[in-house]
Amino acid sequence: MAINQRTTISRQDLGSRALVDEFLRTPPQDVGCDLTMDALHSYAEMTAAGENPEELFAGLAVHLQSCLACAGDHEALLRAVREFGGDELL
Ligand SMILES: [Zn+2]
Repeated sequence: MAINQRTTISRQDLGSRALVDEFLRTPPQDVGCDLTMDALHSYAEMTAAGENPEELFAGLAVHLQSCLACAGDHEALLRAVREFGGDELL
C-alpha cells in the first residue's frame, strides 16, 4: 500500500512545471557520477592512447563537461596512466 501511494505522488511531481523544466535542462545522455566512476579508467586509457573514448562513452563525455568532480578525477587518472602506463596501474 505504501508503495502504491509513493508511485502516485511521484507521477504528480513529474507533471509539475518546475520538474519538467528541470528535466529538459538536463542532457539526456548524461550517465551520472556512478556510471562515470565505473568506466572512467577505460575512458582515461583510451584518451591516453589517442583514441576517441567520447564515441564509445558518449554519456560519460557529456557528464565530464558538466561535473567538475568527475572531470578532475579524469584529469588525475589520465595523468597517472600517461606517467605509469595503464596496465600496471589497473
Ligand atoms: Zn560526476
